[in-house]
Amino acid sequence: MRSLSRSLAPAAALALCAGLTACGSSGKGGDDKPRAVGPARTAPASPSASPSLSAAPTLPAGPGGAMPVFSHGARDGRKRVALTFDADMTSDQGPRAARGERFDNPGLIATLRTLKVPATVFMTGRWAEQYPDEARSIGADPLFEVANHSYSHHAFTTPCYGLPTVPRGTARADVERAFAAFRTAGVEHVVPYFRFPGGCHDDATLREMGPAKVTAVQWDVISGDAFAKQAQPVAAQVLSQVKPGSVVVMHCTRSAAPTTEDAVKKIVPELRARGYEFVRVSDLVGAGPS
Ligand SMILES: [Zn+2]
Repeated sequence: MRSLSRSLAPAAALALCAGLTACGSSGKGGDDKPRAVGPARTAPASPSASPSLSAAPTLPAGPGGAMPVFSHGARDGRKRVALTFDADMTSDQGPRAARGERFDNPGLIATLRTLKVPATVFMTGRWAEQYPDEARSIGADPLFEVANHSYSHHAFTTPCYGLPTVPRGTARADVERAFAAFRTAGVEHVVPYFRFPGGCHDDATLREMGPAKVTAVQWDVISGDAFAKQAQPVAAQVLSQVKPGSVVVMHCTRSAAPTTEDAVKKIVPELRARGYEFVRVSDLVGAGPS
């Protein structure tokens, strides 16, 4: 239904994403149809996946106990929008980080704080290990909630932008490993939401992941910030797509998304001028019937 980032031809987007981290494009190889945005919500969650998870609303399980998928909030006219930021880092990027490459983006987080913009950060376990102080700081700030973006940003289905693949049968373990990394780092306000790297998933994966008792979170607005060279086209792309209830996917890594902070500075005042309120994903999931 959605095409790849408007700012990139599909081939270019795939080439850029291959072997890299961000890939905030629509789920090539996955099924990112908005679904399970149904009327029934459970609130608060029974965080059986981890005793340290914050209580937050989740969607009911899908058919056969499959992991439910959330793509956007209710289209009820309420002008609410959730900015989400994927903090990507893979297991093999440690040497690059050691050489000075920055997979974090403290300036972006500071800007969100200055602008008082609530947000949901989808963090890989590897990122929390690399930047434990920042991970803790984000989780301790009531503006933010921390969600799971896998341990090492590997794909859960193939093909998925050339990402290495989580071995079959280990999907749940990977998710639990990320939650464990958050616990080790002392991250608070971890919510039972999971974003598939690249958005790539299929029904078999959702069934395998069902017992984790977390809700998969996709998006309905692709910012195109991954590998963007300028902030203005990113801002324009977001501003042209946001609707009431939208979930916007952006990134919290300077390495692969260096313009995101500047894009946020353009997006936030404009959406506020249009009457939008910024919320976290949990606010949309728990908003009731669509
Ligand atoms: Zn990602």
